[in-house]
Amino acid sequence: MPNPRSSRRAARFSESVIREMTRVAREHGAVNLAQGFPDFPAPAFLKDAACAAIQDDQNQYAITWGTPRLRHAVARRYAEAYGMTVDAEREIVVTCGATEAMAAVFLALFDPGDEVLIPEPFYENYGPDAVLAGAVPVYVPLEEPDLQFDADAFAHRISPRTRAVVLNTPNNPTGRVFTGAELEAVARLCRTHGLLAVTDEIYEYITYEGRHVPLATLDGMRERTVTVSGASKTFAVTGWRVGTIVAPPDITDAIRKVHDFLTVGAPAPLQDAVAAAMESFGEAYYRSLRDEYGARRDALLPGLRKAGFHCRTPEGAYYVLADISGLAEGDDDVTFSRRLARDAGVAPVPGSSFFSRPDLGRHLVRFAFCKRIETLEHAVDRLERFSRSGS
Ligand code: GLN
Repeated sequence: MPNPRSSRRAARFSESVIREMTRVAREHGAVNLAQGFPDFPAPAFLKDAACAAIQDDQNQYAITWGTPRLRHAVARRYAEAYGMTVDAEREIVVTCGATEAMAAVFLALFDPGDEVLIPEPFYENYGPDAVLAGAVPVYVPLEEPDLQFDADAFAHRISPRTRAVVLNTPNNPTGRVFTGAELEAVARLCRTHGLLAVTDEIYEYITYEGRHVPLATLDGMRERTVTVSGASKTFAVTGWRVGTIVAPPDITDAIRKVHDFLTVGAPAPLQDAVAAAMESFGEAYYRSLRDEYGARRDALLPGLRKAGFHCRTPEGAYYVLADISGLAEGDDDVTFSRRLARDAGVAPVPGSSFFSRPDLGRHLVRFAFCKRIETLEHAVDRLERFSRSGS
């Protein structure tokens, strides 16, 4: 039902299905494999550092675009991990999570009518981000069966209004980590057509095969790439809302202004805690993060397959898109997801939430495996029981 008091803009998108499924999971006491947030604690070091920062009275606004300590820690991390040179004074904005980062980037860089290419399936925020900025999201399917980046399909959708490509790698919801050849194809597209790249790299440290490569490190890309990331996934603190943007100085100036008027700044003591972690955690932390997520993936996937879901093995991030065709008995993804929450006691996200046309995702659901091994084993038991009982 249309809401007469809503702006036309707000009327053009609906409530987040991911967060709605968290409510459905609560209603049914289901294991929540819908919303991607960890159910295990953040490292004690971060929690102690946050408490210390508050006790130390870091309770007022930080500099709008981020505390110097965090910006320098971020710049050092980009240098160490990727050999990327980042000017902490002129090329970084700290935001309230990657979510605000993406919205601020869209508002700062795109004019009404500008077109933005978005590979599909996609994380649900990018469409509303475009709508809020008045930009036009142009969705381009990844190529089946392996969800590969198809440069020709993208090139065909380029018009005089196209301004940018959005790239999320490691990818939510597919678990894809785009290969070197695919990244090169994106880079070539941007260079040839004078496009910006906006990359969401929030899962950068969660890869199972091979390592993450920021698009900005490819030839000629640093000056045309806006790199978004943050602390949420790397340090299991999704509720802290500490995101980061790295971009060339002129782009950073525009983003800083928008960010200032949207939120003034990210939580000051939490920025300090994240900086402390980045300063003291070495490679061993990032290695064990990958190993732990690998174990979580391996705790869920065989069970999913045994229960009758078909899925490709994710190379990164902490999601798996599962085909429900063998189990759904004619239900679409939304009905099936609700039934799974109610009857099996495990809540996924309906696949249609990740597509521009719902019918493209009707045979899919997404499971998040950023959970304790016990939680995942419990979910697998429930799913196997559900499938044995003939759904
Ligand atoms: N990124 C997470 C997901 O895809 C959380 C989404 C959210 O609620 N902001 O599940």
